[in-house]
Amino acid sequence: MENKEAVTEERTAASEIAESAGRRVYPEKTYEFKTELGKAVQNGEIKDIDEILQKHLKILEPQIVDFLLPDLQSDFLYVGQSKGKLGGGKRRIVRNTQKVTAKAKRQHFSAMAVVGDGNGHIGVGKGRGLESVTAKEKALKSAKLNIVSILRGCGSWECACHGSHSIPFKISGKCGSVIVTLLPAPKGISFCVMDDIKTIMRLAGIKDVWSRVQGQTATRINIGYAAFEALKSLNYYRFFNNEKESLGIKG
Ligand SMILES: [Zn+2]
Repeated sequence: MENKEAVTEERTAASEIAESAGRRVYPEKTYEFKTELGKAVQNGEIKDIDEILQKHLKILEPQIVDFLLPDLQSDFLYVGQSKGKLGGGKRRIVRNTQKVTAKAKRQHFSAMAVVGDGNGHIGVGKGRGLESVTAKEKALKSAKLNIVSILRGCGSWECACHGSHSIPFKISGKCGSVIVTLLPAPKGISFCVMDDIKTIMRLAGIKDVWSRVQGQTATRINIGYAAFEALKSLNYYRFFNNEKESLGIKG
């Protein structure tokens, strides 16, 4: 018995250290939900995020996503560029834009975040602010609010394993002039795509994929949104049972 008490004491001490360090703590202790959906999540009436997404309910608090998907990972896309001569122009995760008014130059920062659990849930969002930290925070928040569930499967004729390591068929998405087309690939191909699309595919839980990108590809924000649109468009199709079996679609 003494050992168990000692272990619980250690755990509470560890959580206090985590709180003081400003890390993300499990919200049931520290955070009180304000919306009806959040209260239903906290009471245990909703235990799976798929229940919310299938009913098309609007998520207004990013903490709901933190609560229901505890192993959520996040990453930022390289949308910006550093200034300077002699090797300047390195890619950065924060984009800096300036507007010249009659009185002064006004600076704004923007960032683009991707969140996903590596198992079929993915969200992409953009944030803008007067400082880079606020831009990143806003981007993370909007990515969590935009979370969707996607279908996975294997539609590659070279593989035909009925698994769920790739996508079931060819899809494409558009944002601005950028069109991203994703194609199912056999096992072992890994990612034959641009680095920014790679991040999105990894966090969505897709392991093998080929891609084609058309348009003004220097605008990285449009590439991120076009890839997200392509993955979302998988949900617009309905399948017969035999198609689900042959393409390896689950759910
Ligand atoms: Zn396969």
